[in-house]
Amino acid sequence: MWWIRSIKQNTEKEKQRLLNNQAELDTLRERLVLILVTVLPLVTILQWGLSFFTDSLTQRRPAYLTISVILLVIELFYRLWKRPQFTYFLIAITLTAYEAVKNSYYTPGMPSTMEICILFIIPLFLPMKSIYVTGIQMCSAILYMLIAMPIKPAFIRGEECINIVLASLVALILGQVERKAILENYELKRIAYIEERTDTLTGVCNRRKLFEDVKALESEYTGDIGLFVLDIDYFKDYNDTYGHLQGDECLKAISRLLRTVGQSASFDVYRYGGEEFVGLVKNQTAIAVGEICERIRREVEDLQLRHIKSVNGIVTVCIGYSVSNAQQRKNYEALFLEADTAVYKAKESGKNRVIRFS
Ligand code: GH3
Ligand code: MG
Ligand code: MG
Repeated sequence: MWWIRSIKQNTEKEKQRLLNNQAELDTLRERLVLILVTVLPLVTILQWGLSFFTDSLTQRRPAYLTISVILLVIELFYRLWKRPQFTYFLIAITLTAYEAVKNSYYTPGMPSTMEICILFIIPLFLPMKSIYVTGIQMCSAILYMLIAMPIKPAFIRGEECINIVLASLVALILGQVERKAILENYELKRIAYIEERTDTLTGVCNRRKLFEDVKALESEYTGDIGLFVLDIDYFKDYNDTYGHLQGDECLKAISRLLRTVGQSASFDVYRYGGEEFVGLVKNQTAIAVGEICERIRREVEDLQLRHIKSVNGIVTVCIGYSVSNAQQRKNYEALFLEADTAVYKAKESGKNRVIRFS
């Protein structure tokens, strides 16, 4: 059935988006719940205070005081244990019970449309799994009915039930639309973030990402860092011989190889520009960095990409590297310059080789 398929697809999409943007959404949820737990007790305390100046509210004073204390306890719970989703559930259930009791006791003959609407719409603006939000709503609706129905006079019960069901329905639909928009917004931002930091031709990270990562490393990382610069040999001749499109294919093949080796040897790869790539290797000895570079050089050879203008008849690369460790601390610029100098030396001494800066 098309609509079952559509629900399944939407659920899958929502799950993926929640997962993709987990960190940002966690922060958003924490912020929203923090606002709620801070503002709600302030409002009810204010109501309690104002009830001293308004005769018609005098009899509600115990209700205001009780809900203020309960909301303060929830605030304390949140500040101590930080469980946004569970805290939100607590808030929804507590406020529902409070509104049901307050409305049924103080104005039993009045329908409580407004209270119900507010209660049911608030949870829908939190970006959580739809099933969780629907669950909170169902619990709130059932709780409201369980408390209010036995107290309210018979003539208004039917209207109350209709109000609750309609409010739930409207809130469910509005919430779905709102949540979809929030998640889509986060997903678009995430994609834009990645695209800005990805090289369009090869799919590896670009120079902007390299600078950001290096900055972060310089400020918070204290372990060993190895940096290598890889430059393709006779690449201008390759372009001249096989054309730019084929040159692009060659760049892609080498990027794929770098990514595969990078995944298995745990280093990050960046396209620095043109036919130059940079690798950042964390927490490895200088010898291990050298071995990684040598492995890359050999595997490029193994690709056997034909290049008749090259000395070996195939595409080869030069790699220069340098390390910053406990014996010798260097900043990124120094590391890069040293690795670049080493590449230059490799080119001068015959190409297709790995050289460590010394
Ligand atoms: P060496 O062996 O000394 O490294 O010489 P080389 O020819 O590789 O070096 P050079 O720096 O002279 O040439 C780099 C070439 O890379 C020049 C440019 O046409 C080519 N290039 C830069 N970016 C791209 C690109 O995105 N696609 C293609 N196809 N070629 C590119
Ligand atoms: Mg070059
Ligand atoms: Mg080159």
